[in-house]
Amino acid sequence: MKIIIIGGVAGGASAAARLRRLSEKNEIVMFERGNYISFANCGLPYHIGGVIKERDNLLVQTEEDMEARFNMDIRVRSEVVYIDRKKKSITVRNLDDGEEYSESYDKLLLSPGAEPIRPPIPGIGSERIKTLRNIADMDRINEYIQNNNILNAVVVGAGFIGIEIAENLKERHIGVTIVEKLNQVLAPVDYELAAQVHQHLADYNVGLYLENGVKEFKDKKDHISLVLEDGTTLRAGIVILAIGVKPETSLAKEAGLELGKTGGIKIDQYMQTSDPSIYAVGDAVEVSHVINSTEVLIPLAWPANRQGRIVADNIAGKRKKAYNGSLGTSILKVFDLTVAATGMNEKVLSRLGMEYEAATINRNDHAEYYPGALPLTLKLLFSKEGKIYGAQGIGYNGVDKRIDTIAVAIKAGMKVWDLQDLELAYAPPYNSAKDPVNIAGYVAENMLTGELKSVRWNQVEDLMKQENTVFLDVRIEEEYEIGTIPGAVRIEVDELRSRLSELDKSKTYVVFCQVGQRGYVAYRILTEHGFTAMNLDGGYKLWYPTTLNQENEEQIEYEDPAELAVNSQKQHAQGFEGDGIQEALTKKHAIQIDACGLQCPGPIMKTSKAMKSIGEGDLLTISATDPAFKRDVRVWAEKGGHHIIQEEQEGLVSKVSIRKGHKHTPVDAGVSHAKNKQTMVIFSGDLDKAIASLIIANGALAMGKDVSLFFTFWGLNILRKPEKIRVKKNMVERMFARMMPRGAGELKLSKMHMGGMGTSMMKKIMKKKHIETVSELMHNFLDNGGKIMACTMTMDVMGLKQEELVDGIDFGGVASYLGDVEESDSNLFI
Ligand code: FAD
Repeated sequence: MKIIIIGGVAGGASAAARLRRLSEKNEIVMFERGNYISFANCGLPYHIGGVIKERDNLLVQTEEDMEARFNMDIRVRSEVVYIDRKKKSITVRNLDDGEEYSESYDKLLLSPGAEPIRPPIPGIGSERIKTLRNIADMDRINEYIQNNNILNAVVVGAGFIGIEIAENLKERHIGVTIVEKLNQVLAPVDYELAAQVHQHLADYNVGLYLENGVKEFKDKKDHISLVLEDGTTLRAGIVILAIGVKPETSLAKEAGLELGKTGGIKIDQYMQTSDPSIYAVGDAVEVSHVINSTEVLIPLAWPANRQGRIVADNIAGKRKKAYNGSLGTSILKVFDLTVAATGMNEKVLSRLGMEYEAATINRNDHAEYYPGALPLTLKLLFSKEGKIYGAQGIGYNGVDKRIDTIAVAIKAGMKVWDLQDLELAYAPPYNSAKDPVNIAGYVAENMLTGELKSVRWNQVEDLMKQENTVFLDVRIEEEYEIGTIPGAVRIEVDELRSRLSELDKSKTYVVFCQVGQRGYVAYRILTEHGFTAMNLDGGYKLWYPTTLNQENEEQIEYEDPAELAVNSQKQHAQGFEGDGIQEALTKKHAIQIDACGLQCPGPIMKTSKAMKSIGEGDLLTISATDPAFKRDVRVWAEKGGHHIIQEEQEGLVSKVSIRKGHKHTPVDAGVSHAKNKQTMVIFSGDLDKAIASLIIANGALAMGKDVSLFFTFWGLNILRKPEKIRVKKNMVERMFARMMPRGAGELKLSKMHMGGMGTSMMKKIMKKKHIETVSELMHNFLDNGGKIMACTMTMDVMGLKQEELVDGIDFGGVASYLGDVEESDSNLFI
């Protein structure tokens, strides 16, 4: 029998090897349009990023090796251009000389794959716009980047391939901005999980525009500009288009083979097309979804490989084999995170009108007490009858095995309660005695039996508007202080039984904790005592990221290697107190706390406890692996009046150093204190007013007063460092930053500025008369013990970051300033 295979990569090459293993007799001829067969498409992005160093490692099997081992005829650079079904022959074009010839077949296998979608957007033909499908595409991208010294890129499309490319361009020190038409990245997972990815991308300084498409590409002399649907214009050295793929069906269509409603080649369960002599596999075919048998396109490597083998068995084997459909199990690395999914997600279930329940759990990848435990979120979707529809996971380690386990359970026809019974490998470095998959099974069963009633993250907003609903935060005080659902009342779970009298049976309580676990205990206590309650699925931790800004509307202009140390989260140290930090941190009184492995609230509780044991002004350094720690500790420190003096990131470990401060406590009534303070609000950013205020301030210092200057609004510009500091800003903040004077040197006179002439004349006169400049006055003021406080609220409004302001100053709100005012005998507003 003569078997012809069209397409020599995943599906085609798998089928070819299996065919030979099954029989030595058949003649096998494989045609491949490209230069290579059996290469690792999935590894292409990683060679662009330099993670896979050797290009040759992607060439899994060469034409010569495969011919030698499997005794087959492989012809690369040979495109099949026509199928004559009546004659059972194909026409092949040799791409080197253009010659065409025919080959007959007894059985034909189509494995032509899928091609990247290139919509007819004006300007799409630009040389600077690339797609990535094969080795040749990868080489073109690499060459273009190298030859043109590309420093920034825009990736259009935030699917799996788009995100992988974005990560790998960053690995190559190229600034990356992603543009995505949907309101989230990674369509296989639902919004609340994608929200965590959005924050992670921002942490890695990847720009992200959501719900925005490209309207037009415009080629310029040294870059390409992208005009987005909302009018934003982005600049890029290179654009990678990754908005999806479509099945390569032109040959099949022209040959009169039946296509399915999704546009893929229609096949039966044996992978046979509408012509019994022709089989088809891989990205080009329409498959049946395992969950509900709907027709879908699932362009992934596992189905292609599996189908290739099945076809070989059906052509040359002793028994016919059926393909049981696809689940779409997929996984992806996004910097430190792993995101994976199997089966159907909520969006698909809703679109199909299928009723479902959702249970989300937050656990650690292994026992919390064993070092290195990291959080993992697992979401399970299922029917009222317990059928598992799908699962999604996000975390740092061990996401793959949980999703794989559930994928197996789905194919084995298990119900949600069967997940409880899976006996999975456990020792502390790898797992907990109850695997997250077991827990998901417990939660799902509790929901189905009515033992647990939960509400979802996206119901919170509506519930907040209902008068009869009360949000009950059952976490500890430290967690509550870092953030809570607006309007929530707090009763710690362990106090709940003794404080039930404070609650009202006519109300509905939405109970929540950090991850859902303590919430469930509280929910049980409440319902057992006759209260109406619901538990927030996935807890505060799942809900909170959905409330944040999901975009990072910053065009990442360029990133040169020197800046990488600052921009990359992997090795990042940031000091807030100027020189001498290292020296201070190595002094004996600096306490080191290790909270690695602990999850929220563990690290904050440890920090809080240690802080109580040290004196004001002493230093505390705490290391933690909880990804939320850095954000939490900032809020916690600010509320407690402490100062973060350094943040470091080494891999997944955040190291934060804090100087103990004090919360201002109002002066006791009736106790009289000698007031010897001078306070000033510097509101204006005018040169003359800045000089006047600093002269008065220095004078007051000289008279032995404690002087506190509170800089707010335009006054903050006086504090800006003259050099450009690379910090994350959104579009409006960037505009502001450009328009406002950068530091004392750029201030203008309030009157007679005269296009700059007046200001420069004034500076000359001051120099001649030996009057200090604003910067000098300010430095003297600080050196002599004066206190400068920048108003954090107005900094936020004006988009100014702490790193952009001069060293040696404090940051605080009105409360801290008013504390100083109370103790001062006069307060000036300038
Ligand atoms: P392909 O492997 O694409 O092979 C088709 C071949 O047919 C092509 O080489 C093409 O040149 C050739 N061909 C087409 N028409 C003709 C013709 N007329 N004559 C001769 N030859 C022809 N999947 C995953 O599961 N996980 C991943 O991490 C992953 N990462 C990926 C990353 C990238 C960058 C890409 C592009 C894909 C990735 N995939 C991944 C998808 C996976 O590679 C595909 O699902 C799989 O390769 C499909 O196999 P296939 O045989 O159908 O098509």
